[in-house]
Amino acid sequence: MRGRSFKLPPPVKLSTTEDTEDSEGKPHEKAFLRVFRVLCGGEFAGRVVPLKDHPHRRFNPLRQEWVLVSPHRNDRPWQGHVDPPPSDDAPVFDPSCYLCPGNERAQGVRNPRYTSTFAFDNDFPALMKTTPAFASSGSDLLVARAERGVCRVVCFSPRHDLTLARMETSALRAVVDMWMAEYQSLAALPWVQYAIVFENRGPMMGASNPHPHGQIWATETIPNEPAREQDAFARHRATHGECLLCAYAGLETRLAERIVCENDAFLAVVPFWAVWPFETLLFSRRHIGSLHELHDAERDALADVLRRLFTRYDNLFEAPFPYSMGFHQQPIHQPADGDWHLHAHVYPPLMRSATIRKWIVGFELLGSPQRDLTPEAAASRLQEVSERHYSLRATQGVAR
Ligand SMILES: [Zn+2]
Ligand SMILES: [Zn+2]
Ligand SMILES: [Zn+2]
Repeated sequence: MRGRSFKLPPPVKLSTTEDTEDSEGKPHEKAFLRVFRVLCGGEFAGRVVPLKDHPHRRFNPLRQEWVLVSPHRNDRPWQGHVDPPPSDDAPVFDPSCYLCPGNERAQGVRNPRYTSTFAFDNDFPALMKTTPAFASSGSDLLVARAERGVCRVVCFSPRHDLTLARMETSALRAVVDMWMAEYQSLAALPWVQYAIVFENRGPMMGASNPHPHGQIWATETIPNEPAREQDAFARHRATHGECLLCAYAGLETRLAERIVCENDAFLAVVPFWAVWPFETLLFSRRHIGSLHELHDAERDALADVLRRLFTRYDNLFEAPFPYSMGFHQQPIHQPADGDWHLHAHVYPPLMRSATIRKWIVGFELLGSPQRDLTPEAAASRLQEVSERHYSLRATQGVAR
């Protein structure tokens, strides 16, 4: 079966007894749960089939593709590349940092002495507003089109030494507010179709400057990943009559196995189909398409869950955890009552220590993504660590 034609096993016919045991669940969801229990180690053809012991494939319904899971390989000795330990000693202010307040950037522009957050147009943007329209012609095999865009840089704090995990929740709320304001000003441009709010954290992910910052890239077309997800959301709605992520939130809440942290408005899980060892999916409990639909308490809740999630990541190996993180929101200029459900992906490269990373090579480049550690084991590791940052261990009486 290939991705596009994948279908779950036919729903198990539910007995009347089971229906009356849980009158709140939707029939479809209960059917899926029953199938899921079978897949996750219940009885299958009279045999117990524990997923944690056998190589298997899992299906990612958002990307419509399979991931190979090989849990038996997890204890293999590591003889591959080892990175240097991540640095944990940045100064509060770095006179040579182009993001610190008051410092000079490229082309002689000087940053203001900002005290909270600060955003500016990237001095070396990948996309520009002024790109003229053009398109290739003459061959369907040599296709190119002009792409306009805007690239913004967003500083999370004037402090050079902080990370999202080490910031106060109130300061993270200011970051959420800035993401929303920046996103809305980009969405006001009539030709912008999509904008991705993202952060690359740590040298392992290509972020050479430790100053806490992210980016927002707005584009004239919908990029590959959200385009693929938009298709998946629409297909799930058409075939099941419900939102894919609302249904998934219900499943994860009931199973309570892969939830890393949660609050009244957000849920962070290691998804069943995770590719990266400690990958998480963060999504709103409420069915909304974009950040600007969050009400005041939900914005506080987003700041809260982000700080807690990133603290757990840092505490896992007691080192700053590298990652790429970004929000997927519904395409701009589409009706707000669409199929899209606001979520963020966190893709950290670390595998078994702060110095050993996962590489996407070989079979993964040529075939399918593959992982050794099961998503359930990864979730368990993240559940076990504290939500108090390791750097605060020696500090008494610090309340968040
Ligand atoms: Zn700096
Ligand atoms: Zn939804
Ligand atoms: Zn997504």
